Amino acid sequence: MHILVSNDDGIYAPGIAALAAAMLPFGQVTVIAPKENRSAIGHRKTMHKPLRIDSVPFPVEGVRAYATSETPSDSVAVALLGFVKDPIDLVVSGINRGANMGQDLTYSGTVSAAFEAVIWHKPAIAFSLVDHSENADYSAAAAIARQIVALGLYRDLPSLTLLNVNVPALPLEQIKGFKVVRQGLRTYNDTLITRTDPYGRPYYWIGGEAPSGNMTEEGTDLWATHNGYVSLTPIHLDMTNYAMMRQLQGRGIESLKPGEIPSQT
Ligand code: MN
Repeated sequence: MHILVSNDDGIYAPGIAALAAAMLPFGQVTVIAPKENRSAIGHRKTMHKPLRIDSVPFPVEGVRAYATSETPSDSVAVALLGFVKDPIDLVVSGINRGANMGQDLTYSGTVSAAFEAVIWHKPAIAFSLVDHSENADYSAAAAIARQIVALGLYRDLPSLTLLNVNVPALPLEQIKGFKVVRQGLRTYNDTLITRTDPYGRPYYWIGGEAPSGNMTEEGTDLWATHNGYVSLTPIHLDMTNYAMMRQLQGRGIESLKPGEIPSQT
């Protein structure tokens, strides 16, 4: 088996080395990731400038590694579009420094790297550790990643579906188990910070406290990790709200002529 490993924290982040090492028992491992930290870059595709790719030394023996000049999804795309010659069986992303739960998924470069893989019809799993500290310990999350790949769950993922995994910041023996859960509800505690540059012009930062969220609503990723479980959430790239679709159809919009505004609305 040939596993492609990427991330959004950058090729020198400890989480990607832990994940690559955890994948090595399955066979061949190739790492391709942004040279720099691209967290919260979302699913950005580089279209208006060239991409650079450098072969780089990597702290895990037996792993080929490449650093790209741009985004996580660019990294996965170039690999799957032919930069990596050997056929790839599975794409894993992470282990991210910090959780990717609830609405985080729309910001996440870690999850976007996995989405890029499913766009190109490769099974993909995103791994995140619920610990944003500099000295986070990735060993338990790496053991969990190895276990999840060994279980072969990725073989059952339908098209355009990735598996999103969040691991609580606990030693392996203190993790209670696994919960298959939906996305929970995040709360962002962002504030707009306005400062003045040396030339008297205002500039802005989006700052504030770390995101929180609803940890008590049972059956969500936030709830599971808060209670010491690994969360597993299948995520679909189809963002359609089907219930709302039926409601809109019920409003009769499909029978209107273009430009027609009914008298009673
Ligand atoms: Mn990150």
